[in-house]
Amino acid sequence: MLYYSTKNKDTKASLQEAVVNGLAPDRGLYMPEHIPQLPAEFFEEIVNKSLPEIASVVAKAFFGDDINKDNLDSIVTETLNFDIPLKEIDEDIYVLELFHGPTFAFKDVGARFMARMLSFFIKERKQDDVKVLVATSGDTGSAVANGFLGVDGIQVFVLYPSGKVSKMQEAQFTTLGQNIVAIEVDGTFDDCQSLVKSAFMDEELNIQLNLTSANSINVARFLPQSFYYFCGFAQIAKTLNDRNLLFSVPSGNLGNLTAGLFAKRMGLPVNRFFAANNRNDVFYKYLNTGEYQPKPSVQTIANAMDVGAPSNFDRILDLYGGQHESISRDIKGFSYNDSQIEETISNLYKKSGYILDPHSACAYQALKEGKKPGETGILLATAHPAKFRETVERCIDSKIEIPADLEKFTLKQKHSYSIPNDFNIFKKALINLT
Ligand SMILES: *Cc1c(COP(=O)(O)O)cnc(C)c1O
Repeated sequence: MLYYSTKNKDTKASLQEAVVNGLAPDRGLYMPEHIPQLPAEFFEEIVNKSLPEIASVVAKAFFGDDINKDNLDSIVTETLNFDIPLKEIDEDIYVLELFHGPTFAFKDVGARFMARMLSFFIKERKQDDVKVLVATSGDTGSAVANGFLGVDGIQVFVLYPSGKVSKMQEAQFTTLGQNIVAIEVDGTFDDCQSLVKSAFMDEELNIQLNLTSANSINVARFLPQSFYYFCGFAQIAKTLNDRNLLFSVPSGNLGNLTAGLFAKRMGLPVNRFFAANNRNDVFYKYLNTGEYQPKPSVQTIANAMDVGAPSNFDRILDLYGGQHESISRDIKGFSYNDSQIEETISNLYKKSGYILDPHSACAYQALKEGKKPGETGILLATAHPAKFRETVERCIDSKIEIPADLEKFTLKQKHSYSIPNDFNIFKKALINLT
């Protein structure tokens, strides 16, 4: 299968090129040339399948022309060696916990899948070594760093805004060593993202280093996130027949949501989606008005969604031929400020004892407000509440248990390179560190 650029459908790339380049040469996002349909039998038998079995079918539909089944299956099984439980937490509201991977956030799956796929290209397809650049507001950096840790032929640079990520998040990408380098920028997340963008556009750097991105612009990172939606469906289908399914997705760069839209196009019976934003509500405003106005991000307690210019927006436009009407028919937007998020965490805890993290809280509140009677809502819980310990403990007014595998990061020594928000200094650092 070939991948075209959202900026020009005639610009095409192989899977390997799309994954290694991240962005198309014209700065567009890669899209698969066609979206494969899964047969009706797959959906009939899905309740009897394990998550890796489901994911194997989905992965084969997209990547099966380019990677043989055995290799693809080993990429899938190395990626998905943890549970994704579904729990009923309210009337007709279920939570699908996507956060049981190594860094306790949903990005683990995409990051690991991408690392394993790149590693396959390096080992089997004579791909040169690559440098991965990733800007993070917290969770991407930890997932990518852990997903790529120790993978031969790949060095990872994580850029993060100094003082603007939680201690727990910071520990997850500054304590690893090996092939993972943390770069602490005196600036905002948007500054980090611009530094990364400038690096990709810098001719000299691109001649010296083979640079790629592990943000959700990369097809190998965002497409595997569609596994979640099939997995949620498979679990719901065990108990409910007439489903009228609705997925509520905590949204920032819109990678997770876009993967859900792909799942629907592949035949997954989903009625509609909710996109829950924090105060960074560019997409919410677009859904309501048809006007897309990116703006600088503001800091919130759901910091992995502090995004002012969602990078997958163009993929959604492309998927719907730019039709605002059809986009807003399939997706309804919601936006919550910090105090609404805190109130939501507090209220659900009092009502049921279930603890939400600040991102998932947005998606839960969207369901409370927007789900119609007769609809079954699945909330995608994107991070373990312990990753946002201070905020969550304040909201529920009690201590939460920190999983030992999460605590272990904070016990290790931090290593990072501090730089000002200056491209030339960043460029020098990059050259010196590789
Ligand atoms: C990244 C992230 C999101 C937003 O996901 P996108 O795919 O960027 O929309 C939501 N919640 C958490 C915890 C995240 O880490």
